[in-house]
Amino acid sequence: MSSMTTVEECRALLDTATPLRRDCGRLCGAACCSPLPGEETGMLLFPTEEALYENAAGFELRPAAMGTLLICSGACDRAMRPLSCRLFPLLPVLRGESVRAEMDLRAKAVCPLFRQGLSAMSAEFVSAVEACGSLLAQDPRQRPFLEKLAEEQAELKALSDAFGA
Ligand code: SF4
Ligand code: SF4
Repeated sequence: MSSMTTVEECRALLDTATPLRRDCGRLCGAACCSPLPGEETGMLLFPTEEALYENAAGFELRPAAMGTLLICSGACDRAMRPLSCRLFPLLPVLRGESVRAEMDLRAKAVCPLFRQGLSAMSAEFVSAVEACGSLLAQDPRQRPFLEKLAEEQAELKALSDAFGA
């Protein structure tokens, strides 16, 4: 049996699968790694993932409403990218008993690929995000977090529908 946690398995699935065949960060100057003025760059970690950052140089862990935030410097070793960064700008979203790769609505203001949506993404990346979502949905430590993320997406969708934001 594998001794990897589900998060580590998901990180491995998304090690080489990226949104575009070329490095999309070259298109936008890695906008998703650049803090907004006056803000720090923080990514939400999946449950258990914080253990991978104990004593990791260049990162700081901070408690947040949904879990633990990883604060980074805006540049990191690819091997250290948290799962949230590997999934971006997609998210595995629970839809009943299945999990679908969907555009992460938090990416709307940041990612130039957002408008084109799923059609802009490599098929390999979409499949890897869905495979990761299925693994997470089957793990009792991860499923509640996936549920919270799905709720957050529904709230963002409602706001966007109401205000056209
Ligand atoms: S903002 Fe979008 S296009 Fe730019 S690096 Fe991030 S995922 Fe790629
Ligand atoms: S952890 Fe790495 S990939 Fe994620 S936002 Fe920070 S620098 Fe970018």
